[in-house]
Amino acid sequence: MGQIALEGMQFYAYHGFYEEEQIIGNNYVIDVYIKTNFGTAAEEDDLYKTINYETVYLICQKEMKIKTKLLETLAARILYGLKYQFQNMQEATINIKKENPMPGVKLDSSSIQLSQKFIDQCPRCSNRFICYQDENCWCQEVKIHEQTQSMLQQKYGGCLCKNCLAYYAG
Ligand SMILES: [Zn+2]
Ligand SMILES: [Zn+2]
Repeated sequence: MGQIALEGMQFYAYHGFYEEEQIIGNNYVIDVYIKTNFGTAAEEDDLYKTINYETVYLICQKEMKIKTKLLETLAARILYGLKYQFQNMQEATINIKKENPMPGVKLDSSSIQLSQKFIDQCPRCSNRFICYQDENCWCQEVKIHEQTQSMLQQKYGGCLCKNCLAYYAG
């Protein structure tokens, strides 16, 4: 397992609960840390499997442009964007720092952190695998008969690993 980090991405943006903040704006600094398995990407030399710095930056840039009241909401949207783009994250952490959050008060910054782990244990074979637990999960692309799907849902509740799903696919 390895970690990819983008630290100190700077944006000028217009987030905040108060109208003032949405007009004047603030400086924001974002850090993103993604844990992934370099093994597969290196072995298969597959760009799709690697986490691309540029894409991570573009996801943050895009979300920073949308005025948002709460930084928590913003971080959740960035996380969603990462999940949508990358199928192989084992863990993701997003820090968003707002500089000079209270004009006229001596306060350097306020910040929030959103961190989530995606490693799960397969309820059928007990192997560990990645599951995003939403529509971004790789399992959504596996073609499984509707009846089989609801049977699996009833029997196991959540997502199965790739090998087990392949067994039911087709
Ligand atoms: Zn399994
Ligand atoms: Zn899944």
